[in-house]
Parts: sequence; structure tokens; C-alpha cells
Amino acid sequence: MHIGIIGAGNVGVGVADALTYLGIGKKITLYNRHIEKALGEIWDLSDATPLLRGTMEFVATDDYNDLSNCEIIVITAGIKQKKGQNRLELLGENYKIVKNIIENLDRVNLEAKIIIVTNPVDILTKIAIKISKRDKNYIFGSGTVLDSIRFREAIGEKIKVNRRNIYAYIIGEHGDSEFPLWSACRIGPVELDSFDIENLEEFKKEISDKVRQRAYEIIKKKGFTKQAIVTSVALLVKSIIFNEKGVYTVSVPINDIWMY
Ligand code: NAD
Repeated sequence: MHIGIIGAGNVGVGVADALTYLGIGKKITLYNRHIEKALGEIWDLSDATPLLRGTMEFVATDDYNDLSNCEIIVITAGIKQKKGQNRLELLGENYKIVKNIIENLDRVNLEAKIIIVTNPVDILTKIAIKISKRDKNYIFGSGTVLDSIRFREAIGEKIKVNRRNIYAYIIGEHGDSEFPLWSACRIGPVELDSFDIENLEEFKKEISDKVRQRAYEIIKKKGFTKQAIVTSVALLVKSIIFNEKGVYTVSVPINDIWMY
């Protein structure tokens, strides 16, 4: 599997790192408008591979033609939130960037599946689906996969349960209007509402506020978010490669409702 990544920033490079460390895929092509940055990142990452199991082939490029035989392409290029800025404020600038990327990808490769990560991810995914000539099932956004993982982590931390045994989802927009599916939340086979939690309503409010605010809090402290999104994207890539039929809260059109 040949995976392309557009954008050699925090998230793009993090996706390349995660794929490499987790041994997902056989070749990574990292595209960046400034080739020196892509080259530096790829050289740095490839130096780590003798310590890992498996092999990965790496290419750094500023030429879309090098993505012509990728099976999956992850789009991470674009501006990111500054302190206090919400994701929707990125739309004006990132619309132009993603439109340009989609047009170039359509020119060189109509077969690749595209995962959009650039924010605001849901709106940009809709735009990409509308603009692109490829099968609309071949484009989706990372949606609230990251938020659902944050949700599980926040619940698990509070009630001291292994996060793998927590089934919990955030749906809606990846942003300030997202919301938790409390009624579908289970700890192992037990509904959260039947779990022994003191002051359940307060617990729910604290957790959902925490998840919604998490990116803002991390950005306030370190300037960007990275680890959970890149791990989520690596797992989405793996899910496609192995046709795992996993359940993820990605951004997709529902029965064409989105398209109008
Ligand atoms: P970054 O600033 O580290 O990297 C941005 C990358 O975009 C760089 O490679 C840069 O060269 C490229 N870029 C910027 N302007 C460009 C332009 N005009 N044309 C082509 N390329 C351009 O940012 P980051 O931290 O990697 O974040 C990237 C994006 O991912 C942001 O939009 C951010 O909001 C988003 N993000 C999404 C999620 C999610 O859950 N969907 C999570 C974290 C970050």
C-alpha cells in the first residue's frame, strides 16, 4: 500500500510517523509545497527505521505526479487554529488550499481514497466531494473520530476503566456544536446510565465540556494538537488497507442529504 500525505506540518509528519511506527503501509510519499521541509522530515524519519520491524519506502516531493499511484491520500495542508480561534474561522483560507489540492489530485490520480483532516474538516470534506471528479465514496473526513477517542479517554480516566472497554461516540460537527451520544455509551456491556456514578448529570456535563474544550486547552499550552489525530488517521488508513469494516464517526454524506 502506497500512502500519500499532503502537508509536512505537525499533523502530516505525525501521520507519517504513526504509520511508520505502527507498520501500516509499505510506502509513504510526503508532499509539501516547500520540498526542503518534506525532505528533512523524510530523512529524519527514515533514519529511525532500522530500529523498527518491517520496512517502509519513503519519498519526499513537491510534485503531485509523485502521488499518481497512491492508494490512500491524507490531506493535512492548511492553516491551523491560533489560541482562542475556532475551527470555522479557518474556512476562508483552507477552502482555497483544499480546492487547489483536490484539483491537482484529480489531475494525477482518480483512484485513491482521500481522507481529509484539514479544518473545518466536515465542511471541507463536503466541498472536496462536490469539487472532485472521483467516486464520492472515495472521500471522507476524519470527522469526530478524534473527539470520540477523547471522550473515551475522559470517561475512562474518571471511572478508572480500561479505555478499550468503553464504547462511546461524539457525533455532529468536529467543532463547538459536536455532542456526545450518551444513550449509546457503554462500559463493557453495561449502559453508562446504569453504572454506579455519583451525580450522573454533573459527570456528563463535566465530560462533554472537557472533550469540547480539549483542543483549545492543548493549543493554549503547546500551540497545536497532534498525537490523537495522527493515531486516529493511522487507524483509519489501516482500516481501509485491511478492509476491517470498523465503526468510526467520520465525515460522510448521509443519503445525499449533504449534497444540497
Ligand atoms: P502546520 O502549520 O504544522 O502545517 C500546515 C501544513 O500546511 C504545512 O505543511 C504547510 O506547508 C501547509 N500549507 C499551509 N498553507 C498552505 C498553502 N497555502 N498551500 C499549500 N500548503 C499549505 O499545521 P498542522 O498542525 O499540521 O495542522 C494542519 C491542519 O490540520 C489544520 O487545518 C488543523 O486545524 C488540522 N487539524 C485537524 C484535526 C482534526 O481532527 N480534523 C486535528 C488537528 C489538526
